[in-house]
Amino acid sequence: MAVFKPENVEDFYEIGEVLGSGHFGQVRQVRERTSGNFWAGKFLKIRKVACSRLGLDRSSVEREVEILQAVQHPNIVALKDVFESRAEVVLILELVSGGELFDFIAEKENLLETEAIEFMKQILEGLKFIHCKNIAHFDLKPENIMLSDKVSKPPNIKLIDFGLAHLFHPGEEYKSTSGTPQYIAPEVISCQPLSTAADMWSIGVITYILLSGLSPFQGDTDEETLGNVIGMKYEFNEHYFSLTSPMAKDFIQKLLMKNPEDRMTAEECLLHPWIKPITPKQVAKRNRSSINMKNFKKFNARRKWKMSYNMVSACNRLVNLRLPRKDTLSPDPLQRQCESDVEDTESKPASLLRRRLSSSS
Ligand code: ATP
Repeated sequence: MAVFKPENVEDFYEIGEVLGSGHFGQVRQVRERTSGNFWAGKFLKIRKVACSRLGLDRSSVEREVEILQAVQHPNIVALKDVFESRAEVVLILELVSGGELFDFIAEKENLLETEAIEFMKQILEGLKFIHCKNIAHFDLKPENIMLSDKVSKPPNIKLIDFGLAHLFHPGEEYKSTSGTPQYIAPEVISCQPLSTAADMWSIGVITYILLSGLSPFQGDTDEETLGNVIGMKYEFNEHYFSLTSPMAKDFIQKLLMKNPEDRMTAEECLLHPWIKPITPKQVAKRNRSSINMKNFKKFNARRKWKMSYNMVSACNRLVNLRLPRKDTLSPDPLQRQCESDVEDTESKPASLLRRRLSSSS
């Protein structure tokens, strides 16, 4: 069981600039008073009374902490310390200062598949590690794939945000309707028992976007997106995939399988010829292929715009905290929700999926 220190975090750390905001609070740069080292402090508001709709259940934070403590790996953000006051818990995390991987890529003129593969390898190594520990992330998306800093060569991937992650106990049946529509697996939408294979679906979606700049299931509305996922409505449009190698498409196809058991595991992905070519012909094919940078830049610009739009809308709606019941994907009680900081559910019903964790074990 993790130790939540009762001391005041500010006695140990100077609180600095905001690095990012989530649905449950802010992440700020903090400076350790004794060493002068910089860290990231994730400030999470805790629900004061059980029936309150504001803040997170303490048990939910305990779960995030327990998981972070179990996953020490070069490609996973490290947890240093945890402080607790009456109203909030502060996670002191390794400072990840290189920004999001997608932003880093979008700044480039072009990117060969071989270069994209080096990033994929690190993501898969991190996932292989957590999956071996029976932990699923359940919220893999570009915002949660960052670079440790701006100077490392090659850049070092860090997976962040274990707020929806789950540690499977032997024989446990776990269901959850949390996630982000573009990236969630069909079994999440249909409320089936989940496994680490749900993460592999998200890897399929992320790889598809990385290579083409298209989101495979994106509809005009979240409902349409979810329908496209359930209906497995995706294709490799030649217009966007003309630069892509057949091996890359094969890699994606073997992840975007409706049946979770048919999907490649992270370990299998690392052995797929697109990631680990065996023959000289496979090597040559990879070397000739590149990502659709023009469209990828467009995708990333739209993604960033939507993120800031959601943030502004959320701030404008702070007073309107009540959510209509009909908007929920599942009527189950909520385990993890916060409507105090950046609530964007009103105009985007399925974005509820992101922070509503209705789970049964
Ligand atoms: P969400 O509701 O989006 O899941 P959250 O409340 O769980 O968010 P995080 O996703 O962990 O919070 O963090 C929010 C943002 O803060 C991230 O998108 C990122 O920009 C920034 N951030 C998180 N952790 C770190 C870190 N260790 N170092 C630097 N920045 C970070």
